[in-house]
Amino acid sequence: MSKVLIIGAGGVGRVVAHKCAQNPDVFSGITLASRTQSKCDAIAAEVKEKTGRDIATARVDADKVPELVALIRDIKPFMVINVALPYQDLTIMDACLETGVHYLDTANYEPPEEAKFEYKWQWAYRQRFGDAGLMALLGSGFDPGVTNVFCAHLQKHHFDTMDYVDILDCNGGDHGYKFATNFNPEINIREVTANGRYWENGDWVETQPLQYRKRFDFDQVGEKSIYLLYHEEMESLTKNLNGVKRMRFWMTFGDEYLKHLEVFRNIGLDSIEPIEFDGHKIVPIQFLKALLPDPATLGPRTVGKTNIGVICRGTKDGRPVSRYIYNICDHQACFRETNAQAVSYTTGVPAMIGAMMMIRGDWMRPGVWNMEEFDPDPFMAALDAHGLPWTCNPTDIDIDALPD
Ligand code: NDP
Repeated sequence: MSKVLIIGAGGVGRVVAHKCAQNPDVFSGITLASRTQSKCDAIAAEVKEKTGRDIATARVDADKVPELVALIRDIKPFMVINVALPYQDLTIMDACLETGVHYLDTANYEPPEEAKFEYKWQWAYRQRFGDAGLMALLGSGFDPGVTNVFCAHLQKHHFDTMDYVDILDCNGGDHGYKFATNFNPEINIREVTANGRYWENGDWVETQPLQYRKRFDFDQVGEKSIYLLYHEEMESLTKNLNGVKRMRFWMTFGDEYLKHLEVFRNIGLDSIEPIEFDGHKIVPIQFLKALLPDPATLGPRTVGKTNIGVICRGTKDGRPVSRYIYNICDHQACFRETNAQAVSYTTGVPAMIGAMMMIRGDWMRPGVWNMEEFDPDPFMAALDAHGLPWTCNPTDIDIDALPD
């Protein structure tokens, strides 16, 4: 039984609050803090209505270490669940070190002034967390997060060498808007418009944004176009899995979404470089974010399913093996349970489970760690028990043989 401090009251924070409240045996006390306290209060009221539990709320600017330290000292949680933005990862880690509490997040640090995400900044905290006897669990969302645990499960139970790994992220949901992003638009657009990259024979191969496309038939969703992107879990997985010759990440995008994105690009609306407007400095992508629907409001109107998983070809006992492991999640079912759509749900549930692993001691080791560095079995069991059931089957799908 432990107290947790959740930071960030967006779509993901909402799901984490609901899921922690559903598990009082593990989470004895919950505080939800964010930049805008009214959002925390609204979530607390929903949680009370659905679960009968009271959660405390607070206002904090997580860019400011002294504010975080004061809040953490006041609450004295076992750990902080950081579901604010990647820009706050380091300040929250600093505050955890200063106050002696454990840390978990769902996305790796990204400097606000540069569209570049890497683990190097957070891995640099390994010694300090280790020396302090504290644990930081990085990337406990779905991808990164569950995809890492899926890989760890495949490695533990099905493969000696994981030669060819493809991660497939499909959102078959429809929110009825011409253009909206399912999570923070700034982070989402930066991710999609960046150059792609995949791992092959010990090195990264760079691609143009959205250069490679395939048609893939997703279980319970149907056929979709998937595009090769760089995604952060590949940075740790290529280091931690056995015998990876090639690893790629694919995500679905609809034609309408890509058409809008292309226009934003062409006119510079996706830029992070500040421009002068009417005597003010504005960042175009932040202005665009203000115009777009708030992802936290998409829940009631989103129908359809997500299907996210991993296909691996490799060997076991000298024989070729291939497996496809995935989860399917229904947007409306997620909304009925937590007032959030499936993209927030599939991120928030693993954040809660990661915290549960740490509190129960299933995963507790001082230092800074990625998800695949722990035993996948208790996490996989918890996915089944807490709303993200998975399927793992032999497969003969060859992505390279699929049509473009
Ligand atoms: P939202 O933008 O909906 O929510 C972010 C929340 O953080 C908002 O409540 C915001 O406050 C708060 N926040 C931002 N800056 C600060 C600050 N300085 N101090 C305190 N609070 C702050 O994002 P999501 O909920 O969709 O995503 C949350 C995180 O989850 C992101 O890091 C995202 O990258 C990650 N993610 C990970 C995925 C995975 O699978 N691993 C998938 C999807 C998301 P305010 O309301 O005032 O703006």
